Amino acid sequence: MIRSVETIDAGRFKLDGGAMFGVVPKTMWNKLNPADEDNMCSWALRCLLIRTDNRNILVDTGMGNKQDEKFRSFFHPHGEGDLIRSLAARKLAPEDITDVILTHLHFDHCGGAVQMLDGKLVPTFPNAKYWSNRTHWEWARVPNERERNSFLKENFIPLEEQNVLHHLPDDGKPVQFAEGITLHYYCGHTEGLYAVEVDCMGQNYLYPADLIPSSFHLPVPYVMAYDVKPLITLSEKKQFLQMALDKKSIIVFEHDPVTEACSVHLDERGKIVAGAKFTL
Ligand SMILES: [Zn+2]
Repeated sequence: MIRSVETIDAGRFKLDGGAMFGVVPKTMWNKLNPADEDNMCSWALRCLLIRTDNRNILVDTGMGNKQDEKFRSFFHPHGEGDLIRSLAARKLAPEDITDVILTHLHFDHCGGAVQMLDGKLVPTFPNAKYWSNRTHWEWARVPNERERNSFLKENFIPLEEQNVLHHLPDDGKPVQFAEGITLHYYCGHTEGLYAVEVDCMGQNYLYPADLIPSSFHLPVPYVMAYDVKPLITLSEKKQFLQMALDKKSIIVFEHDPVTEACSVHLDERGKIVAGAKFTL
């Protein structure tokens, strides 16, 4: 049984506003998330923590802190949040995490999964099983030139080498991860991304990861320039938002700098738009 759904603040970073908003003109997106003098916008690294009777399940891990200064200078990690400190504030040590679901293997989602300890790359959560799927794993392990800078081998190869990586079905059908937890499989942002659905005490929660990275990306045409198949993202978003509407879900945004979570409803033109805001 699911006991709680919580968010874990793993800090913030910056990404180019143009890349984050795709074909949307800056005159429009700059009102939503104003860019700095280098056209960079601040984004959250917000993980999900699901507690059941006997498991503490972490979804995504932020970007971690093992990359060099040059790498970090591109992405400007900032803010008070820190994955391990935020878990400690919830009375959880790394040893207490039983499972880590990696929605996908871009660095800002799995960087915190592996840490540098005494000169060796080791799983950050020593007792956890790490979960991905074989299609995405192969996609990340031999990356295309478009996503190469997002798939950093030091973030995920040690998981396989140290036998803590497990693969879930990747046939496109929803995966029942545990009672009350379903993973939905998408291919627009990257091949084989999981969005996470949780039913907890009568409330449905959806964590779309980079399918809908922020509340700013709720309008269907707001698709990131990073996406490998933007037209697939469009149809996946429509399906996902209809599910959120039907299930009266709370959508939790991994990268939204302001809004942690919100419900959705139909506006007078029949579009699915943000409703009430929530903090978990
Ligand atoms: Zn991504």
